Amino acid sequence: MKKIILSRHLQAKQSQGLYRRRRLLSSPQQPLIEVDGKSLLGFCSNDYLGLANHPRVVAAFKQAADRYGVGSGAAHLVIGHSEVHHRLEEALAEKTGRDRALLFSSGYMANVGVINALVDKGDYVFEDKLNHASLLDGGFVSKATCQRYFHNDVSNLEKKLQSADEGSSALVVTDAVFSMDGDVAPLTDISSVCEKYNAMLMVDDAHGFGVLGTGGAGTLNAQGLTQDDVPVLMATLGKAMGTAGAFIAGSDDLIEYLIQEARTYIYTTAMPPAIAAATLESLRVLDDESWRQDRLQQLIKRFRDGASAIGLSLMASDTAIQPVLIGEPEQALDMSFRLQQLGLLVTAIRPPTVPKGTARLRVTLSAEHSDDNVDQLLEGFASLQAGKFNS
Ligand SMILES: *Cc1c(COP(=O)(O)O)cnc(C)c1O
Repeated sequence: MKKIILSRHLQAKQSQGLYRRRRLLSSPQQPLIEVDGKSLLGFCSNDYLGLANHPRVVAAFKQAADRYGVGSGAAHLVIGHSEVHHRLEEALAEKTGRDRALLFSSGYMANVGVINALVDKGDYVFEDKLNHASLLDGGFVSKATCQRYFHNDVSNLEKKLQSADEGSSALVVTDAVFSMDGDVAPLTDISSVCEKYNAMLMVDDAHGFGVLGTGGAGTLNAQGLTQDDVPVLMATLGKAMGTAGAFIAGSDDLIEYLIQEARTYIYTTAMPPAIAAATLESLRVLDDESWRQDRLQQLIKRFRDGASAIGLSLMASDTAIQPVLIGEPEQALDMSFRLQQLGLLVTAIRPPTVPKGTARLRVTLSAEHSDDNVDQLLEGFASLQAGKFNS
């Protein structure tokens, strides 16, 4: 047998500028964060609305911990499904305008569990080329035939659907807002083509839920799509909602089916009830403080206007994800390092998270950022560019 040699792999990662390192955070999610003992202005959190450390959400969490304790004790189907989980499912169904919702402990698990439950060997899964890793893994775990279509290219998707075996079932899966690019999928067109070929459509709205649509109902709401158009909606709670976990929303039959068949639902401990209680409060804050969505849009515009004025290479995104395209991983790392010396934290995103040659600095904005914060970031970028021209 061939021995597994880890050090060789680690060395290769290092020499390619692809080595991953963790930073030590000692503050809550907020614009000014304490990282590795230094105070930095952060632009990397997915806490788009500033709910992760919102006083009402924190208070709800504490109160629920006093009442229910910390652990949920078991899986939902054993004894872990508390009344507060149940109320959260009802609130999420209502928010998204769907029959029912089902909680998962993380978005990764929701995606793997749902895709694996819906398709089997002999079926097809068609995925956008830039889908989140958890969606791709769901396809692999299912043993269905997995094919990727060109990013947001509906005619390429249609070609693949056409050439699929008519006797098989097909599931089409896409991010709603692409996590590393910030652009939005053409969901209306994707939904029509799915209907034409009898394919089931699943949309991952991790980055749209809470941010887009009326009352933060999400990207499907923003595009006027219903449960009939998109039968399977997934969204996470660890991003704009500021807590943790995820849910699937859809028809009564879909949810009952997943309770029977989704292994990542059945065979895992339920999220702590206090997390569910905190998320219920996040939903209330979403309604009470709708200025947060508007504020985020203002900051996005301010950043984009300022960035194009200094000639940064922005991507076609009007969401809170505003990546600055760099190219090679070493270059992205170097820029991230130099921004950090200026007191700004923007993470470099490198392959395999993004395609080769498209390493980037992924700027994310939060409703908690001030105009000044955004201006500081732009000044940081501008000074790096000035440095580039000097050297
Ligand atoms: C973050 C993310 C997930 C995973 O959700 P977790 O709750 O963090 O496991 C899934 N899909 C997309 C598009 C994401 O951005």
